[in-house]
Amino acid sequence: MHHIRRPQACALASAIAWLLAFLPAPAAAQDPVDSPAAIERYEPVFELCRDADRQSVAIRAYRQGDVDYRLTVDPYTLRSRLEKASQLQCDANPGSVEALLAGTPYRRTLDVERENKHLLQGAGVVRSLTPVTGYFLTVDLCPSTKKGFNQEMFETLEHASQVHGTAALPIALAVSGRWMKTHPEAFAWLRNEAVSGRLQVTWVNHTLSHPYDSHLDLAHNFMRETGIDPLAEILELEKLLLEQGITPSVFFRFPGLVSSPELIEIVERLHLVAVSSDAWLAKGQQPRPGSAILIHGNLNEPAGVKLMLEWVARQEKDSIYFLPLESIAGTGRDR
Ligand SMILES: [Zn+2]
Repeated sequence: MHHIRRPQACALASAIAWLLAFLPAPAAAQDPVDSPAAIERYEPVFELCRDADRQSVAIRAYRQGDVDYRLTVDPYTLRSRLEKASQLQCDANPGSVEALLAGTPYRRTLDVERENKHLLQGAGVVRSLTPVTGYFLTVDLCPSTKKGFNQEMFETLEHASQVHGTAALPIALAVSGRWMKTHPEAFAWLRNEAVSGRLQVTWVNHTLSHPYDSHLDLAHNFMRETGIDPLAEILELEKLLLEQGITPSVFFRFPGLVSSPELIEIVERLHLVAVSSDAWLAKGQQPRPGSAILIHGNLNEPAGVKLMLEWVARQEKDSIYFLPLESIAGTGRDR
Protein backbone atom coordinates (compact mmCIF):
# COMPACT_ATOMS: atom_id res chain seq x y z
CA MET A 1 0.00 0.00 0.00
CA HIS A 2 1.11 3.49 -0.74
CA HIS A 3 0.65 5.50 2.41
CA ILE A 4 0.80 9.24 2.71
CA ARG A 5 1.79 10.81 5.97
CA ARG A 6 -0.63 13.35 7.28
CA PRO A 7 1.38 16.44 8.17
CA GLN A 8 -1.10 18.14 10.50
CA ALA A 9 -3.07 15.79 12.67
CA CYS A 10 -4.69 18.66 14.57
CA ALA A 11 -6.10 20.20 11.42
CA LEU A 12 -7.43 16.81 10.40
CA ALA A 13 -9.11 16.33 13.76
CA SER A 14 -10.76 19.71 13.54
CA ALA A 15 -11.90 18.99 10.00
CA ILE A 16 -13.44 15.73 11.14
CA ALA A 17 -15.12 17.41 14.09
CA TRP A 18 -16.49 20.03 11.73
CA LEU A 19 -17.64 17.31 9.39
CA LEU A 20 -19.45 15.39 12.09
CA ALA A 21 -21.42 18.46 13.00
CA PHE A 22 -23.75 18.11 10.06
CA LEU A 23 -25.26 16.00 7.36
CA PRO A 24 -26.79 12.92 8.89
CA ALA A 25 -26.18 10.32 6.20
CA PRO A 26 -29.35 9.45 4.29
CA ALA A 27 -29.96 6.07 2.71
CA ALA A 28 -27.66 5.65 -0.25
CA ALA A 29 -29.56 5.76 -3.51
CA GLN A 30 -27.44 4.76 -6.47
CA ASP A 31 -24.29 2.92 -5.56
CA PRO A 32 -23.25 -0.44 -4.21
CA VAL A 33 -23.18 0.87 -0.66
CA ASP A 34 -26.64 0.19 0.65
CA SER A 35 -25.95 1.01 4.25
CA PRO A 36 -25.45 4.44 5.81
CA ALA A 37 -22.87 2.95 8.17
CA ALA A 38 -19.84 5.09 8.93
CA ILE A 39 -16.83 4.92 6.65
CA GLU A 40 -13.80 3.55 8.44
CA ARG A 41 -10.12 3.03 7.68
CA TYR A 42 -10.29 5.40 4.74
CA GLU A 43 -6.88 5.58 3.12
CA PRO A 44 -5.12 6.23 -0.17
CA VAL A 45 -3.84 3.14 -1.97
CA PHE A 46 -2.26 2.53 -5.35
CA GLU A 47 -3.07 -0.97 -6.54
CA LEU A 48 -3.68 -2.85 -9.74
CA CYS A 49 -7.01 -4.64 -9.27
CA ARG A 50 -8.56 -7.32 -11.45
CA ASP A 51 -12.03 -8.72 -11.53
CA ALA A 52 -13.44 -11.26 -13.98
CA ASP A 53 -13.19 -9.07 -17.08
CA ARG A 54 -11.30 -5.85 -16.38
CA GLN A 55 -8.30 -4.24 -14.76
CA SER A 56 -8.40 -0.97 -12.89
CA VAL A 57 -6.39 1.19 -10.53
CA ALA A 58 -7.56 1.28 -6.91
CA ILE A 59 -6.85 4.69 -5.37
CA ARG A 60 -8.72 4.39 -2.04
CA ALA A 61 -9.56 1.63 0.39
CA TYR A 62 -12.15 1.79 3.16
CA ARG A 63 -14.51 -0.26 5.24
CA GLN A 64 -18.21 0.39 5.60
CA GLY A 65 -20.60 -1.84 7.48
CA ASP A 66 -17.94 -4.55 7.90
CA VAL A 67 -17.35 -4.68 4.13
CA ASP A 68 -14.05 -3.65 2.55
CA TYR A 69 -14.27 -1.51 -0.57
CA ARG A 70 -11.97 -0.06 -3.17
CA LEU A 71 -12.52 3.12 -5.14
CA THR A 72 -11.19 2.17 -8.55
CA VAL A 73 -10.47 4.09 -11.74
CA ASP A 74 -10.56 2.62 -15.24
CA PRO A 75 -7.35 4.03 -16.78
CA TYR A 76 -8.95 4.10 -20.25
CA THR A 77 -12.29 5.72 -19.50
CA LEU A 78 -11.31 7.59 -16.28
CA ARG A 79 -14.57 6.38 -14.77
CA SER A 80 -14.50 5.61 -11.06
CA ARG A 81 -16.37 2.79 -9.33
CA LEU A 82 -16.90 1.40 -5.86
CA GLU A 83 -16.14 -2.28 -5.69
CA LYS A 84 -16.13 -4.83 -2.94
CA ALA A 85 -12.55 -5.83 -2.22
CA SER A 86 -13.63 -9.47 -1.96
CA GLN A 87 -14.51 -9.42 -5.65
CA LEU A 88 -11.12 -8.09 -6.71
CA GLN A 89 -7.61 -9.38 -6.85
CA CYS A 90 -5.31 -6.49 -6.05
CA ASP A 91 -1.55 -6.10 -6.45
CA ALA A 92 0.07 -3.26 -4.47
CA ASN A 93 3.36 -3.37 -6.36
CA PRO A 94 3.71 0.17 -7.80
CA GLY A 95 5.53 -1.24 -10.85
CA SER A 96 2.49 -3.33 -11.75
CA VAL A 97 0.19 -0.33 -11.53
CA GLU A 98 2.51 1.88 -13.56
CA ALA A 99 2.69 -0.82 -16.25
CA LEU A 100 -1.09 -0.80 -16.51
CA LEU A 101 -1.16 3.01 -16.64
CA ALA A 102 1.45 3.36 -19.38
CA GLY A 103 0.02 5.04 -22.47
CA THR A 104 -3.51 5.35 -21.07
CA PRO A 105 -5.63 8.52 -20.90
CA TYR A 106 -5.22 8.40 -17.09
CA ARG A 107 -1.43 8.51 -17.43
CA ARG A 108 -1.67 11.39 -19.93
CA THR A 109 -3.75 13.52 -17.57
CA LEU A 110 -1.37 12.88 -14.67
CA ASP A 111 1.56 13.85 -16.92
CA VAL A 112 -0.09 17.16 -17.88
CA GLU A 113 -0.66 17.90 -14.21
CA ARG A 114 3.02 17.28 -13.47
CA GLU A 115 4.24 19.35 -16.42
CA ASN A 116 2.44 22.56 -15.47
CA LYS A 117 2.62 22.29 -11.69
CA HIS A 118 4.58 25.56 -11.42
CA LEU A 119 1.59 27.67 -12.46
CA LEU A 120 0.12 29.71 -9.62
CA GLN A 121 -3.32 29.55 -11.21
CA GLY A 122 -4.73 27.14 -13.78
CA ALA A 123 -2.45 24.13 -13.29
CA GLY A 124 -3.74 20.75 -14.38
CA VAL A 125 -5.87 19.85 -17.38
CA VAL A 126 -7.63 22.90 -18.85
CA ARG A 127 -9.02 21.45 -22.06
CA SER A 128 -9.34 18.24 -24.06
CA LEU A 129 -6.02 16.49 -24.66
CA THR A 130 -7.33 15.16 -27.96
CA PRO A 131 -9.19 17.01 -30.76
CA VAL A 132 -12.94 17.01 -30.10
CA THR A 133 -15.90 19.00 -31.35
CA GLY A 134 -17.52 19.14 -27.94
CA TYR A 135 -17.12 21.04 -24.68
CA PHE A 136 -16.86 20.14 -21.02
CA LEU A 137 -19.20 22.03 -18.72
CA THR A 138 -17.86 22.44 -15.18
CA VAL A 139 -19.85 24.19 -12.47
CA ASP A 140 -18.24 25.17 -9.18
CA LEU A 141 -20.19 25.07 -5.95
CA CYS A 142 -17.93 27.06 -3.66
CA PRO A 143 -19.11 28.15 -0.20
CA SER A 144 -21.72 30.90 -0.46
CA THR A 145 -23.75 32.96 1.97
CA LYS A 146 -26.49 33.23 -0.66
CA LYS A 147 -29.65 31.25 -0.07
CA GLY A 148 -30.54 28.84 -2.84
CA PHE A 149 -28.56 28.26 -6.02
CA ASN A 150 -28.81 28.72 -9.81
CA GLN A 151 -31.59 26.14 -10.15
CA GLU A 152 -33.12 27.88 -13.17
CA MET A 153 -29.82 27.69 -15.02
CA PHE A 154 -29.59 23.94 -14.44
CA GLU A 155 -33.20 23.48 -15.59
CA THR A 156 -32.63 25.59 -18.71
CA LEU A 157 -29.52 23.60 -19.60
CA GLU A 158 -31.32 20.31 -19.00
CA HIS A 159 -33.82 21.36 -21.66
CA ALA A 160 -31.21 22.71 -24.09
CA SER A 161 -31.37 19.66 -26.33
CA GLN A 162 -29.29 21.43 -28.99
CA VAL A 163 -26.19 20.79 -26.84
CA HIS A 164 -26.93 17.28 -25.53
CA GLY A 165 -29.62 15.78 -27.71
CA THR A 166 -32.00 13.49 -25.87
CA ALA A 167 -29.33 12.21 -23.46
CA ALA A 168 -28.89 13.57 -19.95
CA LEU A 169 -26.82 16.76 -19.79
CA PRO A 170 -23.19 15.84 -19.01
CA ILE A 171 -22.02 18.19 -16.29
CA ALA A 172 -19.13 18.23 -13.83
CA LEU A 173 -20.11 19.59 -10.42
CA ALA A 174 -17.13 20.75 -8.36
CA VAL A 175 -18.61 20.60 -4.90
CA SER A 176 -17.21 21.94 -1.63
CA GLY A 177 -18.15 20.48 1.74
CA ARG A 178 -19.00 23.87 3.18
CA TRP A 179 -21.48 24.52 0.37
CA MET A 180 -23.03 21.09 0.93
CA LYS A 181 -23.42 21.89 4.62
CA THR A 182 -25.19 25.16 4.09
CA HIS A 183 -27.24 24.14 1.05
CA PRO A 184 -28.58 20.64 1.80
CA GLU A 185 -31.76 21.16 -0.23
CA ALA A 186 -29.84 22.37 -3.28
CA PHE A 187 -27.45 19.46 -2.99
CA ALA A 188 -30.35 17.01 -2.67
CA TRP A 189 -31.98 18.54 -5.76
CA LEU A 190 -28.82 18.10 -7.83
CA ARG A 191 -28.33 14.55 -6.62
CA ASN A 192 -31.91 13.76 -7.50
CA GLU A 193 -31.46 15.20 -11.00
CA ALA A 194 -28.57 12.76 -11.42
CA VAL A 195 -30.55 9.81 -10.05
CA SER A 196 -33.50 10.72 -12.27
CA GLY A 197 -31.33 10.81 -15.37
CA ARG A 198 -31.73 14.49 -16.21
CA LEU A 199 -28.10 15.27 -15.37
CA GLN A 200 -25.13 13.03 -16.03
CA VAL A 201 -23.00 14.26 -13.16
CA THR A 202 -19.27 13.88 -12.67
CA TRP A 203 -18.73 14.71 -8.99
CA VAL A 204 -15.51 16.73 -8.68
CA ASN A 205 -13.73 17.28 -5.37
CA HIS A 206 -13.56 21.02 -4.56
CA THR A 207 -12.24 20.46 -0.99
CA LEU A 208 -13.99 20.23 2.33
CA SER A 209 -13.80 23.84 3.52
CA HIS A 210 -12.64 25.65 0.33
CA PRO A 211 -10.20 28.03 2.05
CA TYR A 212 -10.45 31.66 0.92
CA ASP A 213 -9.62 35.01 2.49
CA SER A 214 -10.50 38.14 0.52
CA HIS A 215 -7.64 40.03 2.20
CA LEU A 216 -4.89 37.76 0.88
CA ASP A 217 -3.13 37.79 -2.48
CA LEU A 218 -3.31 34.70 -4.70
CA ALA A 219 0.11 33.41 -3.66
CA HIS A 220 -1.04 33.15 -0.04
CA ASN A 221 -4.69 32.35 -0.60
CA PHE A 222 -6.98 29.34 -1.11
CA MET A 223 -5.10 26.07 -0.55
CA ARG A 224 -1.82 28.02 -0.27
CA GLU A 225 -3.07 29.68 2.89
CA THR A 226 -1.03 29.03 6.04
CA GLY A 227 -2.33 26.23 8.24
CA ILE A 228 -4.30 24.34 5.58
CA ASP A 229 -4.13 20.54 5.72
CA PRO A 230 -4.44 19.54 2.04
CA LEU A 231 -4.86 15.84 2.75
CA ALA A 232 -7.75 16.40 5.14
CA GLU A 233 -9.35 18.90 2.74
CA ILE A 234 -9.27 16.36 -0.08
CA LEU A 235 -9.90 13.02 1.65
CA GLU A 236 -12.64 14.24 3.99
CA LEU A 237 -14.62 15.62 1.04
CA GLU A 238 -14.39 12.22 -0.64
CA LYS A 239 -15.73 10.58 2.51
CA LEU A 240 -18.52 13.13 2.67
CA LEU A 241 -19.60 12.26 -0.87
CA LEU A 242 -19.44 8.54 -0.12
CA GLU A 243 -21.59 9.01 2.95
CA GLN A 244 -24.13 10.74 0.71
CA GLY A 245 -24.24 7.72 -1.60
CA ILE A 246 -22.12 9.38 -4.28
CA THR A 247 -19.06 7.92 -6.00
CA PRO A 248 -16.28 10.52 -6.14
CA SER A 249 -14.71 10.95 -9.57
CA VAL A 250 -10.97 10.99 -10.20
CA PHE A 251 -11.10 14.76 -10.71
CA PHE A 252 -10.08 17.52 -8.34
CA ARG A 253 -10.54 21.26 -8.74
CA PHE A 254 -8.40 23.64 -6.75
CA PRO A 255 -10.34 26.46 -5.08
CA GLY A 256 -9.68 29.60 -7.12
CA LEU A 257 -7.74 27.32 -9.51
CA VAL A 258 -4.79 28.28 -7.30
CA SER A 259 -2.12 25.71 -6.50
CA SER A 260 1.60 25.26 -5.90
CA PRO A 261 4.10 22.60 -6.98
CA GLU A 262 3.84 21.07 -3.51
CA LEU A 263 0.03 20.94 -3.68
CA ILE A 264 0.11 19.39 -7.15
CA GLU A 265 2.51 16.76 -5.84
CA ILE A 266 0.02 15.88 -3.10
CA VAL A 267 -2.81 15.62 -5.64
CA GLU A 268 -0.56 13.50 -7.83
CA ARG A 269 0.31 11.16 -4.95
CA LEU A 270 -3.42 10.76 -4.36
CA HIS A 271 -3.73 9.90 -8.08
CA LEU A 272 -6.26 12.63 -8.71
CA VAL A 273 -6.50 14.66 -11.90
CA ALA A 274 -6.50 18.42 -11.33
CA VAL A 275 -8.95 19.98 -13.75
CA SER A 276 -8.77 23.69 -14.37
CA SER A 277 -10.31 25.74 -17.20
CA ASP A 278 -9.40 27.68 -20.32
CA ALA A 279 -12.88 29.23 -20.51
CA TRP A 280 -13.85 30.89 -17.23
CA LEU A 281 -16.73 32.79 -18.78
CA ALA A 282 -17.04 35.55 -16.17
CA LYS A 283 -13.36 36.38 -16.74
CA GLY A 284 -13.99 36.97 -20.44
CA GLN A 285 -12.42 33.73 -21.70
CA GLN A 286 -14.19 32.36 -24.77
CA PRO A 287 -14.94 28.65 -25.17
CA ARG A 288 -13.22 26.86 -28.03
CA PRO A 289 -13.91 23.24 -29.03
CA GLY A 290 -12.45 21.06 -26.28
CA SER A 291 -12.66 23.77 -23.61
CA ALA A 292 -13.41 23.02 -19.99
CA ILE A 293 -15.94 25.79 -19.46
CA LEU A 294 -16.11 27.18 -15.91
CA ILE A 295 -19.14 28.83 -14.36
CA HIS A 296 -20.49 28.99 -10.81
CA GLY A 297 -23.84 27.55 -9.78
CA ASN A 298 -24.00 29.08 -6.29
CA LEU A 299 -25.51 32.48 -7.27
CA ASN A 300 -22.12 34.15 -6.73
CA GLU A 301 -21.28 34.81 -10.37
CA PRO A 302 -24.38 35.88 -12.33
CA ALA A 303 -22.26 37.26 -15.18
CA GLY A 304 -20.90 33.80 -15.99
CA VAL A 305 -24.35 32.21 -15.84
CA LYS A 306 -25.77 34.86 -18.19
CA LEU A 307 -22.94 34.35 -20.68
CA MET A 308 -23.38 30.59 -20.47
CA LEU A 309 -27.10 30.69 -21.20
CA GLU A 310 -26.61 33.17 -24.05
CA TRP A 311 -23.86 31.02 -25.55
CA VAL A 312 -25.96 27.87 -25.36
CA ALA A 313 -28.98 29.65 -26.85
CA ARG A 314 -26.86 30.66 -29.86
CA GLN A 315 -25.88 27.06 -30.71
CA GLU A 316 -27.52 25.37 -33.67
CA LYS A 317 -29.11 21.98 -33.14
CA ASP A 318 -26.50 19.19 -33.29
CA SER A 319 -23.67 21.68 -33.95
CA ILE A 320 -21.84 21.07 -30.67
CA TYR A 321 -22.14 18.69 -27.78
CA PHE A 322 -21.31 18.75 -24.14
CA LEU A 323 -19.15 15.80 -23.19
CA PRO A 324 -18.58 13.96 -19.90
CA LEU A 325 -15.45 15.22 -18.16
CA GLU A 326 -14.13 11.64 -18.12
CA SER A 327 -13.47 11.89 -21.87
CA ILE A 328 -11.20 14.95 -21.57
CA ALA A 329 -8.13 12.81 -22.34
CA GLY A 330 -9.80 10.67 -24.99
CA THR A 331 -11.20 7.33 -23.97
CA GLY A 332 -8.39 5.14 -25.27
CA ARG A 333 -10.81 2.35 -25.97
CA ASP A 334 -14.38 1.71 -25.05
CA ARG A 335 -15.26 -0.86 -22.46
ZN1 LIG B 1 -14.45 27.44 -5.75
